[in-house]
Amino acid sequence: MRVLIALGGNAMTSEDGRARPRDQVAAVTAAMEPVADLVAAGYDVVLTHGNGPQVGNLLVKNQLAASVVPPVPLDWCGAQTQGTIGFIVVNALERALAARGVRRRVAAVVTRTLVDAADPGFARPTKPIGRYLPREEAAPLIDHGETWEDRGPRGWRRVVASPEPLEVLDAPAAAALLAAGFVVVANGGGGVPVVRAPDGSIRGVEAVIDKDLGAALLGRALGAEALIIATDVDGAVLGFGTPHERAVGTVDVATLRGYAAEGHFASGSMGPKVEAACRFVEQGGRRAVITTLTRIAEAVRADMDGAGTTVLPADITREVAGHA
Ligand code: ADP
Ligand code: MG
Repeated sequence: MRVLIALGGNAMTSEDGRARPRDQVAAVTAAMEPVADLVAAGYDVVLTHGNGPQVGNLLVKNQLAASVVPPVPLDWCGAQTQGTIGFIVVNALERALAARGVRRRVAAVVTRTLVDAADPGFARPTKPIGRYLPREEAAPLIDHGETWEDRGPRGWRRVVASPEPLEVLDAPAAAALLAAGFVVVANGGGGVPVVRAPDGSIRGVEAVIDKDLGAALLGRALGAEALIIATDVDGAVLGFGTPHERAVGTVDVATLRGYAAEGHFASGSMGPKVEAACRFVEQGGRRAVITTLTRIAEAVRADMDGAGTTVLPADITREVAGHA
């Protein structure tokens, strides 16, 4: 059985959000334990990961060093983080597999994801990235063509487009590695966003793709049966942040979309996970689970309930939302 695991920020930075190199290596090392258990159990595993804090750090370097070395565009930042995060994931997972006596190799693929140059996101950027800056420090960057928004007392923040991912262009490379027996890390940060020119050539664009939506697309392209979105909460809840929180357990797509339409899932965090889970199942996936990292082994097992929010096709769903 092929499983796509999407790792959230908590798998790559320390609990307090620190992202020093040693924090990232420690978090990834811990995250690879349950992943290695799955590989050892015989699952065909593909990993993808977020990159928000890492890209944020690169943007700070860009700003601070702009007078000394040329700032690099956002698509380069995405590609760089796929490289560095891929590197530490490969090291940590190979080590965890070796400790289990599993002789599998791991490879990371720099992955481009196609978006539409006419995506409405480009005309109206909404995704906040990087640090807050005082207005006078944001001003030269605005003159440079970047979009920054006044976010009140914390200062100004850059916003970029978050276009719909249309196609994972390097999915065939990931598929070939899987067929050759590799565990594959791909489409980090949702993929490096690129557009296709009329002459067929590809170029990167200043945008970020949601990693969970990118994960759903990659999962379908690779024929994964399960999508596991590993994050820092047990699953999605209704009435989030109220005294009346109610866990969403096993649910079908239509019911979950109904909850989403009622506004239960925040747009920058749980919303895209829910949307990704729905899309994955609608497009032929057998199950999508939103859960914590430590429970991914339970989450992939079809005979187990209660490992978070489990989205199933309508035909096999037992509606138990609220029981968890
Ligand atoms: P990741 O880095 O794993 O992508 P996010 O921070 O983007 O994690 O999303 C997980 C967060 O979503 C949780 O920590 C929680 O604060 C938030 N969240 C928003 N709405 C909900 C909800 N309805 N149920 C559960 N968590 C929610
Ligand atoms: Mg997120």
